[in-house]
Amino acid sequence: MNTKLRLAGVIKESIVDGPGWRFVVFAQGCPHNCESCHNPQTHDPDGGYETTVGNIINEVEKNPLLKGITLSGGEPFWQALSFSVLAKKAHELGLDVITYTGWTFNQILAGLDAHEGWRELLSESDRLVDGRFILEQKTLSLPFRGSKNQRIINVKASLSEGRVIEENYESIEEDYKPM
Ligand code: SF4
Repeated sequence: MNTKLRLAGVIKESIVDGPGWRFVVFAQGCPHNCESCHNPQTHDPDGGYETTVGNIINEVEKNPLLKGITLSGGEPFWQALSFSVLAKKAHELGLDVITYTGWTFNQILAGLDAHEGWRELLSESDRLVDGRFILEQKTLSLPFRGSKNQRIINVKASLSEGRVIEENYESIEEDYKPM
């Protein structure tokens, strides 16, 4: 629980960062430099503030209505091992975990052996929303995504079937429909 996280901030209740009521944790630090990024203040890896997994879990435990936590950014995979510890604790509380990343699912798979914590964070993520924000593909109509290239990937199903299994949501209120 003393594992350190460098964060840009948190939102204690959100319905726009995945299905259901969610606690959102914004990682500080991002290497992707997407054009027209909405959160440029999250890019500097030395910015933000430091906290611990224990502090976040204490806040999460105060809200019995939460369905899950969302790891966003910034880039959670830049602090993958620490965020995997947070995700594991959330699972122990019965919550689900959605992780946003600027890398694609294939890039994450290709980097599992090269990057500390990538394997652990991927395996503790129920869903991965993948890919950079691409301005030309910006959309306001796809729930939980900023641009059309981004996918909501069911991680376990994708790994077991050896292909990308996406989940499709038509509104923020409904549960997912497998594509
Ligand atoms: S991955 Fe997200 S936080 Fe990073 S530059 Fe792109 S839009 Fe911004």
